[in-house]
Amino acid sequence: MAISSDNYDVIVVGMGPAGSTAAFELSRRGFSVLALDKQVHPRYKVCGGGLSARIAKILSPDFFSVVEETVHRVQFTYGGDQSFLIESPDPIAYMVMRDKFDQWLVEKSRQAGTIIHEQQMVTKIQNGEAGVDVFTEQSCYHAQIVIGADGVMSVVAQQCFSGRSFQKIPALESEVPGEIDSVHPFQEVPTALISLQAAKKGYGWIFPKKAGLSLGVGEFVEGTKRPKQSFRGFINQEPMLAGLNVPKPLGFPIPIASAKAYGDAPPWAGQLVRGRALLVGDAGHLVDPLLGEGIYYAIRSSQLAAKAVSHMLKHSDLCLLRNYETLVANEFGSEFRVAGKLGKIIYGLPRSVHRWAGRWFPHAYQRVLFRYCEVLQGKETYQSLWDRILQRLHWPCRKK
Ligand SMILES: Cc1cc2nc3c(=O)[nH]c(=O)nc-3n(C[C@H](O)[C@H](O)[C@H](O)COP(=O)(O)OP(=O)(O)OC[C@H]3O[C@@H](n4cnc5c(N)ncnc54)[C@H](O)[C@@H]3O)c2cc1C
Repeated sequence: MAISSDNYDVIVVGMGPAGSTAAFELSRRGFSVLALDKQVHPRYKVCGGGLSARIAKILSPDFFSVVEETVHRVQFTYGGDQSFLIESPDPIAYMVMRDKFDQWLVEKSRQAGTIIHEQQMVTKIQNGEAGVDVFTEQSCYHAQIVIGADGVMSVVAQQCFSGRSFQKIPALESEVPGEIDSVHPFQEVPTALISLQAAKKGYGWIFPKKAGLSLGVGEFVEGTKRPKQSFRGFINQEPMLAGLNVPKPLGFPIPIASAKAYGDAPPWAGQLVRGRALLVGDAGHLVDPLLGEGIYYAIRSSQLAAKAVSHMLKHSDLCLLRNYETLVANEFGSEFRVAGKLGKIIYGLPRSVHRWAGRWFPHAYQRVLFRYCEVLQGKETYQSLWDRILQRLHWPCRKK
């Protein structure tokens, strides 16, 4: 094994949206950054590729060059005749293919000065007092800080953050390539479909892309084998998929944030920072527990991590790394808590209750769904949506 004599400020493990963003932010601030990925970009990633529109606020405008479709319409279905269409003059979501989107992020970090080594699988990390040693199958590298951006199966999390517990939910994804008629309702006006009928405790999605559709199901319960069954049911029963040849889906877990881990202040300590190691994105389980949206949080958590790492390196004070946990708690803490509560209610209720509620209170249902789309647009937060719901129910809101 070759031992590199270079000493980097930061080593980033994994070059998905989280790792590329962390590497970009630190390189552009002038730090020496080595980024390692076991794969070679562009590569396929099992993912719906749906980005909530608020992502435009945290990405540079040239991101639109990799957007496949801009979605102004979301159709929520509950099976049978129960369907609610939400439309907005402002974008609700952007659709990307992950190979192109991730490649775009990788190139941005390369242009900012990141040294990138691909096909380097990280196998071991020594998180010491004087620095970190990162071992791959071919080499060993040294740095002051390591950022774990290596996804749900993170080696950095396993080796530097033992004893963490989190929830991994199963999800399946299939891509229907460019055989969709241009008069298909999804292609005529790009529409995203969310079906609560598709999964017992989760949902199914159909996302429009430039040349085809991405579709899948997520079951928000750990350890079940249901997704395959749910996926089959979804493609057989969903009228929008009638007549389409749907390829076999691929599965991958989604590490959703647990309300316990990301609840109040004390439990945060040590969840995302230990010694000289930090976790961002899926490696830190920073995924919305209601929708399974992870890309926004992967990018945003990496921007926050880069801020804390840059302070730490400038002042040579390791304690400053802890600011990252505080920044994440302030920005995501109450959001994940409320999203978790909403998820428990929505996925805990039998589907017949949704159908019944949709039939008897269609206007209230439509209003809540509209507000939910405003959360995706960044006009509302989960917390403000929750407060509105409590107000309508004449329930006391949380104290500010
Ligand atoms: C079926 C499915 C559908 C989804 N749909 C959506 C959606 O529509 N919208 C959304 O926002 N989120 C969605 N998600 C979640 C989203 O995919 C993740 O939250 C997002 O990819 C997290 O980004 P990341 O950079 O943290 O990790 P990843 O994208 O997983 O990137 C990790 C990187 O680390 C590399 N790596 C891993 N291990 C090592 C190692 N040992 N050494 C070196 N490199 C390593 C990998 O090659 C990879 O490039 C979906 C997930 C699934 C499973």
